[in-house]
Amino acid sequence: MSIKNEKLAKVMEDVIKRNPGEPEFHQAVAEVLESLEPVVEKRPEFLEKGVIDMLVEPERIIKFRVPWVDDQGNVQVNRGFRVQYNSAIGPYKGGLRFHPSVYEGIIKFLGFEQIFKNSLTGLPIGGGKGGSDFDPKGKSDGEVMRFCQSFMMELSKYIGADTDVPAGDIGVGAREIGYMYGMYKKQRDEFTGVLTGKGLTYGGSLARKEATGFGLCYFTDAMLKDHGLSFDGKTVVISGSGNVAIYAAQKATELGGKVVAMSDSNGYVYDANGIDLAEVKQIKEVRRGRIKEYVDTHKDAVYTEGCSGIWGIKCDIALPCATQNEINEESAKKLVANGVIAVAEGANMPSTPEAIHTFQSNQVLFAPAKASNAGGVTTSALEMSQNSMRYSWTFEEVDAKLQGIMVNIYKNASAAAKEYGMEGNLVAGANIAGFLKVANSMLAFGVV
Ligand code: NDP
Repeated sequence: MSIKNEKLAKVMEDVIKRNPGEPEFHQAVAEVLESLEPVVEKRPEFLEKGVIDMLVEPERIIKFRVPWVDDQGNVQVNRGFRVQYNSAIGPYKGGLRFHPSVYEGIIKFLGFEQIFKNSLTGLPIGGGKGGSDFDPKGKSDGEVMRFCQSFMMELSKYIGADTDVPAGDIGVGAREIGYMYGMYKKQRDEFTGVLTGKGLTYGGSLARKEATGFGLCYFTDAMLKDHGLSFDGKTVVISGSGNVAIYAAQKATELGGKVVAMSDSNGYVYDANGIDLAEVKQIKEVRRGRIKEYVDTHKDAVYTEGCSGIWGIKCDIALPCATQNEINEESAKKLVANGVIAVAEGANMPSTPEAIHTFQSNQVLFAPAKASNAGGVTTSALEMSQNSMRYSWTFEEVDAKLQGIMVNIYKNASAAAKEYGMEGNLVAGANIAGFLKVANSMLAFGVV
């Protein structure tokens, strides 16, 4: 860590002391605080009036038991979390993650990042995140339903359309949102937009499913164009094959790129002819299968066990869309050695700090998740607007708003980086632009 400002360094020291054993959370806070050094030089009141001390501490953390009965009649107990991090500019907003790796530190890191991402969208949404260590993989529909119902029975006490509006994330897709929304509606007896990512028949927004992946490509396209480049004719490698990865692959292809590799948590496929996305959708969205099944129907493609090898494939554009810290320094060096020109994060914090440093010091265009994957929450906020209006926009209307917002996020992050003397550094630019709106609001509220 290299925070030079003494007071900021002290905030970071306290964060580490008060949140032991949460390295992902420390990593996320350190990155933001480092970016804020030039801001607090210009605006010392953010430190003097305690805004930064308040900002790093979540407003509320809810932690609860989630008991459910499996298909064999055994009682299973998982742990649920909701971190209501910051509501300075709107109701808490952020996804729910169901994955065995979930613990309080992961949810805090994601919730903290969400504050700045949501602010960057320009829409009135605060930051939050939640989830459970439940693993939907290998569970029957009945088991997933009973888990989701139990989870929502407790969570419903703390959320609401104007207070906290969760959405999906890893392990939480349309099926899980449906089960949770059904239970919320039954318990509260109200039809309200308390979750986003809902099905189209009960208040969902067109283009929500596609939003994060499409948004990632709109952002990347804006970044490329600003440097006289485009997706056209470029080779693209995408990690993951979930919601974000699939729709990033679709839009990258529509913009003229050729996606040659995708992965899941077991391994990756390389198809020099270009990935057949219809087949990936069939495997992942319809059959809930494994990416290795791709080679059963595509004999020229090659499947390799293990995840990190995907970054050794030669490409022009890399879009990490699986999970946190999936690109380390070694992988980043391989990408650079193979001539990568742009890396844009679809997943949350997929690059380690050393990897980011490697990209930036080798003049690779680097788009940080906070800015480049904000398309999901943007469209979630558009879903909230449609629910409040009791009205639905067309796919084209939502997609056009999404595209406009992603281009604006690029412009704002880029302008903030320039204003604070770090031209081209979108990590700093996104942190600063996201921070200012929240911090100015907190300053107006006083000590609350
Ligand atoms: P999904 O659950 O739909 O897909 C996740 C994908 O990543 C799967 O292919 C999964 O493989 C793979 N994966 C998960 N863990 C690992 C791991 N440890 N190593 C390698 N691969 C892994 O999730 P999403 O696509 O929704 O989310 C992906 C990322 O994007 C996350 O970081 C999420 O926080 C972020 N994000 C998602 C948004 C959204 O709208 N969905 C919005 C903004 C950010 P497998 O099937 O084997 O588990």
